[in-house]
Amino acid sequence: MRRKLAAGNWKMNGTSADLAQIEALATAHTGALSEILIAPPTTLLHRAADIAKNGPITFGAQDCHKRESGAHTGDVSAAMLLDAGATYVILGHSERRADHDEHDEDVRAKARAALAAGLRVIICMGEELEEREADNTLDIIGGQLAGSIPDDVSGENLVVAYEPIWAIGTGKVPSVAQISEVHNFIRARLEQRFGPKIARAIRLLYGGSVKPTNAAEIFAIANVDGALVGGASLKADDFSPIINALDAS
Ligand code: PEP
Repeated sequence: MRRKLAAGNWKMNGTSADLAQIEALATAHTGALSEILIAPPTTLLHRAADIAKNGPITFGAQDCHKRESGAHTGDVSAAMLLDAGATYVILGHSERRADHDEHDEDVRAKARAALAAGLRVIICMGEELEEREADNTLDIIGGQLAGSIPDDVSGENLVVAYEPIWAIGTGKVPSVAQISEVHNFIRARLEQRFGPKIARAIRLLYGGSVKPTNAAEIFAIANVDGALVGGASLKADDFSPIINALDAS
């Protein structure tokens, strides 16, 4: 049985004042059935993990370097994130692929470093609108899956997030049939590569304009084990109903 996961990606948002949102979330979901994850900006990670210690929320980072340490000004290693309180790291988000020219091989190298340090990885993938319109979605996802995920994963330390780029922050959401097709495809490809036991334990998240109003419909889709949420994870009042919908699914 896969434990559902509600993951919030705060991106480059949040200062100390926003730690109150994490406290509110922790208080509201003490008995949550689903796993709740917040990936705040790195500057807040340590304090957030400290404030919410022993509560229902786990914490993650939004990127890590592929090397263990060294002369990489401005970068942060996987071990540093673990030390700051992270148990997960989001890798290969489309904004990092676009803004930092990250390719599948970079994501894979970072994932290897994160796993070696003891972090769990959430590896993101998704197609551009033009790729969907050209009917290339499954080819794109197949390539990203093969290229971004390292070989030595387990069902526990890998989460895959399907995030169509055209749905991120736009208010546009794929149809139930479109989400279902991609999630079934990802599960089948994972089975081919890692075998049924590991593949069936890997959680598959949908991401892209998940809101309190559409969460229940998305969570009812087979092979959707939760969500990676951007904008609607910033305020406890918005994220809470999404967590409740996941608990109820
Ligand atoms: C994201 O950036 O991972 C995301 C899904 O953003 P939003 O929920 O705002 O579309």
